[in-house]
Amino acid sequence: MIMPHLQGIGMTSQRIRERMVKRLSEQGISDSRVLDAMCHTPRHIFVDEALASRAYEDTALPIGFNQTISQPYIVARMTELLLHSNKPKKVLEIGTGCGYQTAILAKLVDQVFSVERILPLQKKAKDHLWDLKLKNISFSYGDGGLGWSDYAPFDGILVSAAPLSIPEQLLQQLSIGGVMVIPVGTNQKQVLQRVTRTSESFSVEELDIVSFVPFLSGKE
Ligand code: SAH
Repeated sequence: MIMPHLQGIGMTSQRIRERMVKRLSEQGISDSRVLDAMCHTPRHIFVDEALASRAYEDTALPIGFNQTISQPYIVARMTELLLHSNKPKKVLEIGTGCGYQTAILAKLVDQVFSVERILPLQKKAKDHLWDLKLKNISFSYGDGGLGWSDYAPFDGILVSAAPLSIPEQLLQQLSIGGVMVIPVGTNQKQVLQRVTRTSESFSVEELDIVSFVPFLSGKE
């Protein structure tokens, strides 16, 4: 049985999630695995109660500590890009934030390794993901610029904050054939990139203009 607050009512109900997913497919998201995961994941539990009724709008919302939950379109787009040609088994996520993107990944890949540099955000994310009974997630508190070498290499890496250039350690922790989706650039202008590791080097596709919070070093 699904707990009532997970199911939602009114502006947080299943019907509203279905409407969000319909909008995403009209915006060009076509991977049915991604649409299905987003249709069945309550997004409202990841934001403050006061914002719950806005959780399914296509907008970023504040989650505290100057951070934002990524807008649904961006979550869908990045996940679709990551899953594009294969189904990655082991995925490293940098920037757990509220944990919503983590939940979508956990439903679609075997194992998620998620790194966050702000401890209270990580704590909240852990609680929400526990409520959803998602158990294939390992959490690390630290600077995601260092990756997570204990579990490397990863066949997918998804980064939810924008560095000025791709951290070398992340490139090194990508397996051959692995794919990284990452926004790169300054506060004013960032480009979403998909980097694929080949046997000899890396191929880079520059995709959309995006707006993410900055990728910061160290931890808080
Ligand atoms: N996918 C998340 C995005 C949150 S915003 C969500 O939808 O909630 C980006 C997150 O990246 C923030 O929580 C921020 O603290 C984190 N972050 C920024 N730089 C980081 C770094 N170097 N290592 C780990 N986390 C980082």
